[in-house]
Formats: sequence, C-alpha cells, structure tokens
Amino acid sequence: MSGKAVMVYSEDRELEFQLLGIGRELADKIGTELAALALGSGIVGVEEYVEYGADRLIVVDDPGLSEFSVEPYRSVVLEAARVVEPEILLIGATRRGKELAARVAAALDTGCMTECIELDVDDQGRLTAKRLTYGGSTIATEVSSRKPHVATVPARAFEKPESSSRTGEVVKLDVEFLAPRVEVVERREKIRGDMGLEEAPVIVSAGRGFRRREDLRLLEELAEVLGAKMGCTRPVAADLGWMEEWIGISGHKVAPKLYVACGISGTIQHAAGIRDAQVIVSINNQEGANIHELSDYSIVGDIYTVVPALTRALRERLR
Ligand SMILES: Cc1cc2nc3c(=O)[nH]c(=O)nc-3n(C[C@H](O)[C@H](O)[C@H](O)COP(=O)(O)OP(=O)(O)OC[C@H]3O[C@@H](n4cnc5c(N)ncnc54)[C@H](O)[C@@H]3O)c2cc1C
Repeated sequence: MSGKAVMVYSEDRELEFQLLGIGRELADKIGTELAALALGSGIVGVEEYVEYGADRLIVVDDPGLSEFSVEPYRSVVLEAARVVEPEILLIGATRRGKELAARVAAALDTGCMTECIELDVDDQGRLTAKRLTYGGSTIATEVSSRKPHVATVPARAFEKPESSSRTGEVVKLDVEFLAPRVEVVERREKIRGDMGLEEAPVIVSAGRGFRRREDLRLLEELAEVLGAKMGCTRPVAADLGWMEEWIGISGHKVAPKLYVACGISGTIQHAAGIRDAQVIVSINNQEGANIHELSDYSIVGDIYTVVPALTRALRERLR
C-alpha cells in the first residue's frame, strides 16, 4: 500500500476526535491528507469529523453495522483502507478497537503498536511511538518498520482539537462485509454502584496500612467530607475482602482530579492505575515509601492520626 493519508477510527466518537488531533499533526508532517471513518447504522453529525480536522470522512452506514462485531468491522476498515491507502492507521485502544486493530494489521501484513501515548514520524517517515511497559514503570520507544503503520491509542493520550469551521469531503461507501461469526444471545446490564471509580472526580483509597476492616470508617468519613468515592489496593479487596474492587494494573484505571492514597506503598501495579490522576496526595508513615515519589503532596505520618485530622480540618473549611 503506497500511503496517501493518515486514517483514524474509533467506535468511541470522542476518542476518534482525539485521534484527529494527533492525526492532523502526523498528516502535516508527512504531507498527506487526514481521513476519518464513521461506521455504524443511522450515523448522524458527520460534519463534526470535518470540524475536528478530517479532510475526508468515509461513512459506511449499514444496518448490519448497528452492533459491533469484529468480522464485519474488519472487512469495512480494510475496504476503507483500500480506498484511502493510508500510510498511518490509528485506531482507538478500546476493547473493541484493540481486537479490530490486531486483525486489520494482520490482514494488511503489517505490525501493530498498541496503547501508544506519544506518536511521531522519524526522518525516514516511519511511525515512532512511546508506550508504557512493565506495568507502567518504564516507557518503551518503538518504531514501526512496515507500512501501513498501524497503532492503537488509548483515550485521553492526546487532546481533542479545537473545532473549527473548515471544509472536507464526505464519502459514502457501500461495502459488502463478512457476516458476524458470533451471535449475541443475551445482554445483561453490568451491576455497578452509583458512580464508577473511572468517572469519580475524587477518590480516597485504602491500603494495607489499615489494620482492621472497621478502621475503614476513618476513610469513609474523609470520603463523605470530600464527596469522594472509595477505592483500595488489590490486597485490601482480593486478599482481605474488605472491598469489592481495587485500583491498579489488574483493576480499575482511574483519572480523578484528586486521589488521596492512605496507607498505600505505591507499587508499580498500583501506580499503573492512578497514572492519570491530576493531583495525588499520599499519607504514609514511611518516608521512603514509593507512593511519596508519585505524589504531588506527601504527608509522612500515621493514617490513624492524619486521616481524622484531615477530615476535621476539611469539615471546618468546607462548612
Ligand atoms: C500480577 C499482579 C497484579 C497486581 N495488580 C495489582 C493492582 O491492580 N492493584 C494493586 O493495588 N496491587 C496489585 N498487585 C499487588 C501489588 O504488588 C502490591 O502487593 C499492592 O499494591 C500493595 O498494596 P498496599 O500498598 O496496600 O500494601 P503494602 O505494600 O503492604 O503497603 C502498605 C503501606 O502502608 C504503610 N503503612 C502501614 N501502616 C501505616 C500507618 N499506620 N499509617 C500510614 N501508613 C502506614 C506502609 O508504610 C506501607 O507503605 C498486583 C500484584 C501482582 C503480582
């Protein structure tokens, strides 16, 4: 495939707009157009893709695409790639996007760099990427050596561009796609609490520094004052059974404005889940605890005295 464009796709529209931001930068660098894909059934608001930077939008609107299923979506993305001839293809790293990207890359006989948090083009025109590895403790730099360069990008790695009144081409494509090989036989809503940890703007979190389950009451009081959701480390949930869900590489990845880590050591497995927190406050009685390194504000002290004191002070302040 010769390479005439940067092409972006995600079934999550907000994420696709973020891809348009970085896609524009890459397209300008290699001097190509920027194409976006809109796939589904009853697609509306196509002009938004152009407003966020697409020079060309490929629309495949078909009732057979109303539900995501990887085989038809793979056929459609491949057909769009045949038309657009992308040099670079960026796909949103959602669960579906990751499955799709791997299959598309395999069909195009190329590689796939996954979960890229930085992207650039080197002097040979190859796509370079930075990715977190080893549970987020190191950053690897990779180069894609084969065109088209395929990469997946997680949400919020790049900013959504400013919308502007620009013009672009909207192309409707009819594609004969493979029928899905998986049938959905039942759909059940996930049972979750009021607000998920992922969406919570403030989280107070417990680690093994808490000696007894009853002591979590201290954290509950702090959570109440801050209007926060409570989280914890894996041992607190999985080993001690004091809570149901935990934060970290094998648990929830959170992105609150404020994360208060109480009695948490800050291992890489936990740190991988709080990387996107805007402000981290740690309370830990060991000066050398890793969590202090990760924090914007560190309190070296005993959670049994600091947490109630903080709750009291905040209660006074917020009264
Ligand atoms: C494959 C794998 C996946 C994992 N995934 C995750 C994951 O997703 N999330 C996760 O959290 N962990 C995960 N872990 C576990 C991880 O390795 C750590 O064991 C865990 O994060 C440690 O939890 P902690 O900080 O609560 O406990 P500890 O490491 O025991 O830390 C407790 C901290 O509390 C401090 N402390 C003790 N008493 C007090 C006090 N009175 N006042 C103040 N501070 C005090 C101590 O100084 C210490 O730093 C995973 C492990 C593996 C092997």
